[in-house]
Amino acid sequence: MKENQRYAFVLDNRGIKLSTTKEEKAWYKIRKGNAKLIQLKPMIIQLNYKVDNTDNSNIYVGLDVGETTGVGIVQKCKTRNKVIFKGEIKHRKDVSKLMEQRKNYRKLRRAEKRYRQARFDNRGSSKKEGRLPPSIKTRQDEIIRFINKLLKLLDINKVIVEDVSFDIHVLTSGYKPYKWEYQNTYRLDENTRKAVLMRDKFTCQMCGAVETRLEAHHITPKRQNGENTLDNLITLCSNCHTKVTGKEDDYKIIFYNKINGRQVGLRYAMHVMQGKNYLYKELGKIVREVEKTDGGTTANKRIDWNIEKSHSNDGIVITGLKPTKLDIYEYTVKPLRKKQKCKIDKELEIVQGDRVYYTLKYRKKIECYVNAILQSGTLAGYYKLKDYKGNKYGPVSPRSLRKIGSEKGISII
Ligand SMILES: [Zn+2]
Repeated sequence: MKENQRYAFVLDNRGIKLSTTKEEKAWYKIRKGNAKLIQLKPMIIQLNYKVDNTDNSNIYVGLDVGETTGVGIVQKCKTRNKVIFKGEIKHRKDVSKLMEQRKNYRKLRRAEKRYRQARFDNRGSSKKEGRLPPSIKTRQDEIIRFINKLLKLLDINKVIVEDVSFDIHVLTSGYKPYKWEYQNTYRLDENTRKAVLMRDKFTCQMCGAVETRLEAHHITPKRQNGENTLDNLITLCSNCHTKVTGKEDDYKIIFYNKINGRQVGLRYAMHVMQGKNYLYKELGKIVREVEKTDGGTTANKRIDWNIEKSHSNDGIVITGLKPTKLDIYEYTVKPLRKKQKCKIDKELEIVQGDRVYYTLKYRKKIECYVNAILQSGTLAGYYKLKDYKGNKYGPVSPRSLRKIGSEKGISII
């Protein structure tokens, strides 16, 4: 199978951000002595000459924010839309556990002291207006940290974030259903479908099943000119849907009564919205433009463009630019704790290209990256290092190394 494409970020000798290039081409430049390697994953090279006129514009970043955030970066070129980065940010999940742990440590510590009068109202910061719980704030901060890192390598024109699950206009009478590129009469607009499911609280209206494949059923079937509107659609699980199909007339009254007067609940989980508002505000400070889109529109486009559903693919679709090709490597972005107190977990084993701290004699610590890992001989498993000035070290034992993501605490693999 052909290896998926990876692009290298390119800087000129002054650090001006240039267009990305294929990794092979970047290696060619390094071999020819025209550039030096700054980082391996994702690859960054710096040319040793000046480049003036560059076309590094029209770069859109799409974010599908969730427990895992999908990221897609698409550049709108003259003849095609080039996907230059695709990846998933695997957010930390240990924050609330750690906060609880800290709370208990503090409690214990306090209990050990001699009796002191209880103090109230001494948690000022947790009552501050607009304060986000740490578990939510971390997630947003991780995204911002990642975007900040990208901004050093790319001129980002716009960041687009999926805001709500469907286009709210679907609820108004003047709503025009989404017009898909490949007209398919059987397909229901995803915005409408999502609105129906949300109105019925994601529950089958016949058997009450949740957490199963849910479908939107036309109460008056399309062959009887039933419309694609909210008052003609009801949520059924696929089993019930099969039972009803062909016998629509028997169920019409029951179904119409069920959904009569029912409204789409627009109250989202408050904490999700809180987090998003914080994200928009912070993103607005660092990028030129922040745009919002909705899940229905994304789903419609994804189906139109025949793209498989995944977090990172959704990130690409959210940019609104139809990718010309999708044979691109998927990166995993792993935000790290600012202070690595615990042992690094298995997932973060030191591999080639990682950035590490290497402790020299006299406890001098230097930042390097892993250039090679010896595979055979008596020193198998030992690491050869290089620092960013090109000095070589090693072979050294892995015990003398400590992995670092980057100065901003992100490891991209
Ligand atoms: Zn059912």
